[in-house]
Amino acid sequence: MRLSRYFLPVLKETPAEAQIVSHRLMLRAGMIKQESAGIYAWLPMGYRVLRRIEQIVHEEQQRAGHIPLLMPTLQPADLWQESGRYNAYGPEMLRIRDRHDRDMLYGPTNEEMITDIFRSYVRSYKDLPLTLYHIQWKFRDEIRPRFGVMRGREFLMKDGYNFDLTREDALHAYNRHLVSYLRTYERMGLQAIPMRAESGPIGGDDTHEFLVLAETGESEVFYDSEITDLRFGDREIDYDDVAQCRAVLEEFTSRYARTDDTHDAAVFEAQVPEARRRQARGIEVGQIFYFGTKYSEPMGATVADADGRQVPVHMGSHGIGVSRLLGALIEANHDDAGIIWPEGVTPFHCGIVNLKQGDAATDAACDGLYRGLVAKGLEPLYDDREERAGGKFATMDLIGLPWRITVGPRGLKTGIVELTSRRTGESEELTPELAVARVAEIYAGL
Ligand code: ATP
Ligand code: MG
Repeated sequence: MRLSRYFLPVLKETPAEAQIVSHRLMLRAGMIKQESAGIYAWLPMGYRVLRRIEQIVHEEQQRAGHIPLLMPTLQPADLWQESGRYNAYGPEMLRIRDRHDRDMLYGPTNEEMITDIFRSYVRSYKDLPLTLYHIQWKFRDEIRPRFGVMRGREFLMKDGYNFDLTREDALHAYNRHLVSYLRTYERMGLQAIPMRAESGPIGGDDTHEFLVLAETGESEVFYDSEITDLRFGDREIDYDDVAQCRAVLEEFTSRYARTDDTHDAAVFEAQVPEARRRQARGIEVGQIFYFGTKYSEPMGATVADADGRQVPVHMGSHGIGVSRLLGALIEANHDDAGIIWPEGVTPFHCGIVNLKQGDAATDAACDGLYRGLVAKGLEPLYDDREERAGGKFATMDLIGLPWRITVGPRGLKTGIVELTSRRTGESEELTPELAVARVAEIYAGL
């Protein structure tokens, strides 16, 4: 993409309404525009990151054997009458009446609808296990939308639902989700710690929230500092292997880590030596639940078991805050100059800064780099505007591309360009060909 032809409305001033750094930077870097409280338009730069995050979530869900579909944002109220949640949900639910006076709602979550889909088609235990998921916009009329996309009213969520014959099978689905979530967040360059949580309006006993530690987080958390040393890494995992998935769950959840809803000071002190006790704040970026037959029973989602008896299926639901993740990622990756995207989610792989636009040799070198990067399957953002070098660097730093190649007449005299890491600020001088090769190598495994 050439910046001169792109739509990147960066702001010079810091917007006064934004209280936390991620919200400020998303507005300044031209990623989002507020349309109403907690409702945002995703401008091209923000949209690119949103799509990258979505892509990672899709890939990791499907790696775990989960199947994508897409349910609508609007739902009939009848389904929610069946589960009893239509009245229970309260003012967070946006209720709508259509022209035929039918009660509708903008989905805050999809347990009822997915249960209805399941009961419409699945009859036998032989069709289990089954996990279906979608990535779809949700609406919750939050009492206090704030912090930009972190607590929106309209927000993008991945929500997945497992259907299993027995509680045991459903707990394997739970563990499988935990493993796939660890992989998902690590691929984005984030550490999200599973913590014991309370279930809220979804209902259920077994549940973990995934938290990214950040001062601006809305949740208070208590944990054993040892937990921050755990990494899933690139280990092989067989998602059908019950013992393997269970072992990962045990590894990542045996140390004390709880949100304030479930925190127990006495247990904390008994289990964790004082030097390792931490109290901090965190951003909830996902949650997994097992809730058994809470929906399948009232809604009649049953299958015939091996003996031909009709039994309600055991279910769980599993969410990832796709749009909230942009905020969490920026909270965890920024400096005074702007965002620092991890390679896994960056909107463009590499920036190209032309220090002397209009100089034939410099323009030609930039064009060559651009073509070279594209030929390697990468997406560069080429700042080809007639602007001072200082302004170009400031924009690149603000939008946070992890790598930048700077091209100027002075370097080109000896055949070199400069490759700079946004994170460390360190630069390397090398030929354009080597610069392309280096950048390609950095992204090769991602
Ligand atoms: P919270 O406690 O933050 O209100 P929740 O527990 O009600 O969230 P879930 O039903 O668990 O939310 O939804 C799954 C994920 O969706 C959450 O882990 C979070 O990352 C994200 N999410 C929930 N509410 C919002 C919101 N208002 N804006 C953006 N993301 C949200
Ligand atoms: Mg939650």
